[in-house]
This record gives sequence, structure tokens and C-alpha cells, in this order.
Amino acid sequence: MQTKKIAIVTGGGSGLGFAIAQQFTQNGITTIIAGRDVNKLQTAKEQLGENCVAMPCDVTDLKSIPAFVQQVLQQYGQIDILVNNAGINMKKEFTEVTDEDFQSILNTNVTAVFVLSREVVKHMLTRNTGCIINISSMAAQYGLPKVIAYSASKTAIDGMTRAMAVELSPKGIRVNAIAPGFIYSAMTAKALDSDPERKAKVFGRTPMGHMGQPEDIGSAALYLASDAAKYVTGVVLPIDGGNSIGF
Ligand code: NDP
Repeated sequence: MQTKKIAIVTGGGSGLGFAIAQQFTQNGITTIIAGRDVNKLQTAKEQLGENCVAMPCDVTDLKSIPAFVQQVLQQYGQIDILVNNAGINMKKEFTEVTDEDFQSILNTNVTAVFVLSREVVKHMLTRNTGCIINISSMAAQYGLPKVIAYSASKTAIDGMTRAMAVELSPKGIRVNAIAPGFIYSAMTAKALDSDPERKAKVFGRTPMGHMGQPEDIGSAALYLASDAAKYVTGVVLPIDGGNSIGF
């Protein structure tokens, strides 16, 4: 019987997923990072050390997901934590968004989250325990222009989090979401620096007055995955310096 916890973090090779994997591995959780780019995963694995395992997986290849989950189970025996972090965005004028654009965002951000969760939950139900963390966004808390598909997808994530929580919590599986606010990365910082008006708008409604760090999302995920959160389910936790409640 495994004593170490086993986690899957989709998109764990970069950005917020990497920060989550970092907190997990540093706290003794064997963490499987999944993504499409093998080199990205390998580089991340080298940084994350021996508690990290890189497993290539394209979450939009829905037919391959059951085999991916079985591979994890064969190698590690159990899955305690699933973090549905992999996500894509696309900024376009509303009328420029094609059917394919819209569908592609929904495939990655919603359908893949459902299919991977379903396959992992089948296993978690055999043990009556488990924790699922979905990564949402401020785009589900208020209206953002030019991200119609992304907003639809992240609002779906909030709804799915609540629907999964009411159905699965009686069976020992807690389901929560994290809604990151404006989190620092070279890309987000550059985007804001190149658009002073947007920058003023963002910080004008962020009571803490600065961006978050990826590790803030990692810490929130570690908390939700831990026994400290054993009575927490169905919440969408904003980690946003107050942005979602700022005037
Ligand atoms: P990144 O682009 O840095 O990371 C996204 C990750 O998802 C990559 O590692 C990518 O790996 C993986 N990924 C994308 N598509 C697939 C796929 N089809 N199959 C498997 N893996 C995939 O983004 P962020 O770290 O910024 O975002 C992570 C999550 O946080 C997303 O859900 C995003 O919506 C959310 N978020 C981020 C915010 C921010 O400020 N950064 C704010 C609010 C929400 P690969 O390319 O190798 O497949």
C-alpha cells in the first residue's frame, strides 16, 4: 500500500502548473506533470527533482485519456490528487472568433477536464477518497472583453466544480477550484507594461495593488490538497489580491 500521495498536474511543465508541481514535490507528493511538449516536461522535471514524473499527454486526445490514467495507476497504484490546470486562451474580437476557435478552447478547457476527471474519479471511488482542483479564472467572475470562448470555458469550470462537489463529496472526493487573478509572468508583465491604460485598470481595482506570484497559486493548491482543507469542497477560491471584490 502506497503511503506517499500521488498527484497529476496537467500543464505542470510551465507557468502556474509548474508552481503547483513545485509546492507538491517540495512537500513530498509524487507529482506527475502532463503536457504535450516533451522537452518542456523534461526541463521542468529536472528542476522539480525526484518527486516529479513527466508523462506526455495531450488532454484533447480524449480517447487516449483512459489509457493515460491506467498507466499512472499501473506505475503508482493510486491517484490522490488531480489538478486540472492545462488551459489555453485566445484574444479576439467577438465577431472574429470562428466556430473552430471557440470549439478548440472548449475542448481543452472544459471537455478534457470532464473526461480526465471522470476517468480519475472512477478510480477514486474505489478508495472513497480523493481531491480534485480545477483552475478557473477572473474571466468567470466578471466580464472581460475579447475572450468570449475562454470566459465561457472558465464559467463552465465553476459550474462543473459545484456539480462535481455535490455528487462526489458524499463519496469522499472533494472538488474545488482556484480562480487566479493577475499573476506575474514575463508575458503578463510585458502585456501590462505595453498597455498603461489596462495596467491602471487592473491595479485600480486590486486592493493589494500588485500582481500575485505563481507560488501564491501553488500554496493555494497545496492547501486545498491537504488535510487542512478536509472540510472544504465546492468552493471557487480567488487568489487575486482582492481583484474580484475591488471597486
Ligand atoms: P501556460 O501557457 O504557462 O501553461 C499552460 C500549460 O497547459 C502548458 O504547460 C501546456 O503545456 C499545457 N497544455 C495546454 N494545452 C494542453 C493540452 N492539450 N494537453 C496537455 N497540456 C496542455 O499558462 P498559465 O500557467 O498561465 O495557465 C495555467 C492555467 O491557469 C490555465 O488554465 C489558465 O487558464 C489559468 N489562469 C492563468 C492565469 C495567469 O495569470 N497566468 C490567470 C487565470 C487563470 P504543453 O504546451 O506542453 O501542452
